[in-house]
Amino acid sequence: MNQPAFTCGWVALMGPPNAGKSTLLNTSIGQKVAIVSPRPQTTRNRITGILSGKDAQVIFMDTPGIHQLRGKMNRVMLQSAWQAMEGADVLGIVLDADLYARRPEFLDKDIAPLIEPIAAENRPVFVIANKVDLLGDKSKLLPLLETLHGYWLRAEIFPVSALSGEGMPRLLDAIKKALPAGEAQFPEDMLSTLPMRFMAAEIVREKLFLSLRQELPYSTAVDIEAWDEDFERGHVTIHAVIYVGRSSHKSMVIGHAGKNIKQVGQTARKEIMELIDRKVHLELWVKVKENWNEDAAFLHELGLGAP
Ligand code: GDP
Ligand code: MG
Repeated sequence: MNQPAFTCGWVALMGPPNAGKSTLLNTSIGQKVAIVSPRPQTTRNRITGILSGKDAQVIFMDTPGIHQLRGKMNRVMLQSAWQAMEGADVLGIVLDADLYARRPEFLDKDIAPLIEPIAAENRPVFVIANKVDLLGDKSKLLPLLETLHGYWLRAEIFPVSALSGEGMPRLLDAIKKALPAGEAQFPEDMLSTLPMRFMAAEIVREKLFLSLRQELPYSTAVDIEAWDEDFERGHVTIHAVIYVGRSSHKSMVIGHAGKNIKQVGQTARKEIMELIDRKVHLELWVKVKENWNEDAAFLHELGLGAP
């Protein structure tokens, strides 16, 4: 028997916000590269995660959710999702199966922008029915699976839980087999195609999301202004600026007696250290920049889409 050839390729993870795309990416590669939060629209641009194995290398592209949006930043986010789709060998459509099993009436509107493009696809399509751990009774899935099959006849459907890992080995196996034969495109120990400083900024942003309530996090951006390596002592000094839209937001980010920013700094520092495996000194500043999310040049500086 012939040995199956090594496969390598790109997988775009698409779907509505909050479906669990970023969680699925992290679980697949066994490392946290994408930030996750209980609030929709946490992921702003394309995040990659590389899974290297003995028989395949899978390069996942996490995307911001596909949905109806207003504003420049949101347009940039959507564009980045469609671009990921263009560059993919395999498409993964991630859906919150628990949500649609309970509320089937939400499905059509949530996946409206994807129905036609996916139905017309020639590439392999995997529909990933996520969060099945939340379903007490798995038979509740059946009507949803039938509806999805009706939309996308060629697609294969995989019920999984990105959180518990249930169904994940089977999904990953199928993805590997669907990728084109070819050599690995990245070194085996590379986790992401993104620079570490970008990932560090994302970690700070995640901690802000987790520490702040209401809509504030949507109007915050994080930029790494300096990343100084001290190779002799093996540590890194990182200066990160948190941009907010209003001065009232600045005081929220800082918190009473600096409590919030301190907490954000401590938790982010710990995670960045784990990621880069070096000692980290993290300095955070908060700056007010009105309407930053409508400023194309600034968005570009942050690595969000084209200017
Ligand atoms: P994204 O917007 O599609 O990237 O979704 P995230 O990965 O940020 O996840 C959104 C929320 O759903 C987070 O609170 C996750 O912890 C949660 N979540 C993701 N996958 C699962 C899952 O399989 N089961 C459960 N119970 N929660 C999940
Ligand atoms: Mg996400």
